[in-house]
Amino acid sequence: MSSDCIFCKIVAGEIPAKVVHRANGIIAIEDVNPQAPVHLLVLPERHVANIAEHTFKGSADEITSLMETAAELGSKHAGGFRLVVNTGADGGQTVDHLHVHVLAGRHMTWPPG
Ligand code: 5GP
Ligand code: ZN
Repeated sequence: MSSDCIFCKIVAGEIPAKVVHRANGIIAIEDVNPQAPVHLLVLPERHVANIAEHTFKGSADEITSLMETAAELGSKHAGGFRLVVNTGADGGQTVDHLHVHVLAGRHMTWPPG
């Protein structure tokens, strides 16, 4: 756990969040500031700063679980969904704990801003 990380505090139950899924070291919560009718965040319970910092070697299972969970949650919405992994300052990342956004429930446009 990283002591100054919001998502680590959510994982530890120190900050409340609406948890929609929790299994195999992965947790999914509702985003506090939703950008679509459905906006979930899927993250590993252990602290990893972002996808670039992730050490894939030896932990491919974690990424599989992360993406599998995100895809399963998104697939509940028949019209489709979008997965987003903002990475670093220019990538729009504001919370430095790896997370996959699951957006659904409206038509998504492209390119993103
Ligand atoms: P990022 O900008 O890093 O890709 O996404 C961070 C996301 O975390 C944002 O969509 C933001 O609304 C969400 N967020 C920030 N603080 C909290 C919080 O305390 N609880 C929840 N549930 N979501 C948060
Ligand atoms: Zn963290």
